[in-house]
Amino acid sequence: MRFLIATLSFCVFGANASWFWSEKTNIVEDLGPALSKDARIILRGDELYAEAAKRWQWWAAPDVAAVVDVKNEEDVRHTILYAKKHDIPFIVKSGGGGHGSIASLGTAKNAIQIWTKSLNHISISPSGNSATMGAGVNGKRVTDTLWAAKKQTVTGMCECVGLTAVALGGGHGLLQGYHGLLSDQILSLRMVLANGTAITVSETEHKDLFWGMRGAGHNFGMVTELEYKIYDVDVANGKDVWSLEAFVWPATRENTKKVYAAAKKSMNGQSPSYFSYGLVLIMPDFGPEPVILHHVVWNGPLTALKSHTQAFHDLDPISVTEEEGTYPDVPRWMQVDQAGMVCNADRFVPGGGILRFPVDMPDLNVEALAEAVDVFREATTSIKELGASFMMIEQYATNGVTKIDPNNSAFALRSHLLLLAPAFFYPALQQDGTPNTALDDVAFKYGGKIRKILADGAKAHGAYVNYANGDESLEEIYGESWRIEKLKNLKRSYDPENRFGFYAPIPMGDNGHSEL
Ligand SMILES: Cc1cc2nc3c(=O)[nH]c(=O)nc-3n(C[C@H](O)[C@H](O)[C@H](O)COP(=O)(O)OP(=O)(O)OC[C@H]3O[C@@H](n4cnc5c(N)ncnc54)[C@H](O)[C@@H]3O)c2cc1C
Repeated sequence: MRFLIATLSFCVFGANASWFWSEKTNIVEDLGPALSKDARIILRGDELYAEAAKRWQWWAAPDVAAVVDVKNEEDVRHTILYAKKHDIPFIVKSGGGGHGSIASLGTAKNAIQIWTKSLNHISISPSGNSATMGAGVNGKRVTDTLWAAKKQTVTGMCECVGLTAVALGGGHGLLQGYHGLLSDQILSLRMVLANGTAITVSETEHKDLFWGMRGAGHNFGMVTELEYKIYDVDVANGKDVWSLEAFVWPATRENTKKVYAAAKKSMNGQSPSYFSYGLVLIMPDFGPEPVILHHVVWNGPLTALKSHTQAFHDLDPISVTEEEGTYPDVPRWMQVDQAGMVCNADRFVPGGGILRFPVDMPDLNVEALAEAVDVFREATTSIKELGASFMMIEQYATNGVTKIDPNNSAFALRSHLLLLAPAFFYPALQQDGTPNTALDDVAFKYGGKIRKILADGAKAHGAYVNYANGDESLEEIYGESWRIEKLKNLKRSYDPENRFGFYAPIPMGDNGHSEL
């Protein structure tokens, strides 16, 4: 392995980094020799540390003392066993990742971070129906690699997010209307358990764990590789063509009601081709008050999309943008591409925190949404530090999702085609790096209020684990009690010491609380 921490980092940062390690172990000396030639250990203060430990946002961020850039399954095994031997907490961060944003991550202190950046191979099987992928690939790498072979698969909509972490929580993406969630594409997983055992998990091997990994999969072991379903791009029938229209209206109460009454109608028999992504946010080009920015995406040419969006044109938007291209273009149109605004939030608010308060539901209560938007407007216009916040109103096609038996995996929210979430975006860290707790409190006040309005207005609601704030109930995240009981049993079997307990943890006791 390469000792990238080098003498300099020891001289400058050694005292800082070793104050707790030295009591137990020196990671470089004790783990280093067991790792493969190119694996790297990066300590707090090393010049690579900032990139290695970077998070998408900094509220409740994990505290990482050392990063292990693993190159293969053996490196993962050795790191997990080393952490176990010395009772050091560890977390996993995916390749382009670090987007995980849930309160429980913040309980990881002086942790080792296993970084899957280098586990990024993709190979298409001879049948062309699946691909083997390293656990560190992100959405963009998957889409670009497959597209070059006229193939595609379900990934998260944002290019930067990792495939694995998204899929372990269920995972929503543009192609889910056709093929189901990201987790529905998993054929098998190669993973390392907390005791260092490497296993393959599928419908035929460790079937019980395979059930849990698809929906609650951050809790049982570390995935190193996935075998994942892929699909032909039907070019002959024009299925490589995608289009988008983006509409803008001032986010008044009246407009919210009209726009989302129209959106609600579009949910009836929603085509698998149709996805809409609404945002309420302040766009300085349109003045100091929030606007509704409503994107409609369609798998087909613009002319065909327009026959589905007349209702929005009739509502006199102040701006309409049109795009037509191919599937890999879509993220850029919505600024969720690798280089775009959403993937690079930290460029806009350095040390920024983004607190989401998600409410997923099968149907929309337009009155409740309008009330929630009123509260969001009050928060973002009266408190200037919250001015970069946004409220997401995602309307996914669920055709491919609901045709799969909900009991087949741990993902509990299959009928929820709506993902609503205010996301309060503000400087979460003060200049000295300490948390900005006063602003956290304000975000919780408004976020909690909006969440309650939306939840009270919904016939049923949940909280998608990958958007969860962390203060939701287990039932909101993982569903019915039989599911939670099953997850607890899996936890007792596969991770009895709760080593994988930093991401929406599943308690093993009956008190409903994490045993962290
Ligand atoms: C900009 C942005 C866009 C998003 N877009 C979408 C979207 O389109 N669809 C969607 O469904 N969700 C989306 N999300 C939510 C996303 O699913 C979660 O934020 C998810 O945690 C991101 O995974 P990551 O790999 O990027 O993050 P990371 O922080 O690297 O990983 C999150 C957690 O996953 C676990 N994990 C990671 N790798 C492994 C592994 N190999 N084995 C076991 N556990 C592992 C760990 O517990 C880790 O803490 C988005 C989030 C953001 C911030």
